[in-house]
Amino acid sequence: MDNCIFCKIVRKEILSNKIYEDEEIIAFNDIHPAAPVHFLIIPKQHIETLYDIQDDQQSLLGKMMLLAPKLAKEQGCQDGFRVVINTGRVGGQEVFHLHIHVIGGRERLSPMVHSG
Ligand code: AMP
Ligand code: ZN
Repeated sequence: MDNCIFCKIVRKEILSNKIYEDEEIIAFNDIHPAAPVHFLIIPKQHIETLYDIQDDQQSLLGKMMLLAPKLAKEQGCQDGFRVVINTGRVGGQEVFHLHIHVIGGRERLSPMVHSG
């Protein structure tokens, strides 16, 4: 996808603070961190949202999810972290290339936001 910012990061057309890469997946720090640790795990393949995941992408999604605790520990989250996948308009998704937010730090994170 030519204009997708995360595809540009995958193609290295935009710099990122990368913390992990393999054939299918990369992870990099969020540019606007919501907590001391805040990185994103994305598939290299352009998949727009969690709605668009297909049955044959089960192992890809599983690999991404399994990376979350491994990388979280490496980044200093020894005592918990939060995983978020914003999906679609109501979910507050801003970048339409599937990504898992991994968020953590030393202190307990604030409660999840509730909408009215
Ligand atoms: P979402 O609302 O779930 O779509 O979140 C998109 C996230 O991508 C936000 O937390 C942004 O701060 C982050 N983001 C946008 N552009 C970049 C970038 N070039 N490098 C790293 N993170 C980015
Ligand atoms: Zn993309």
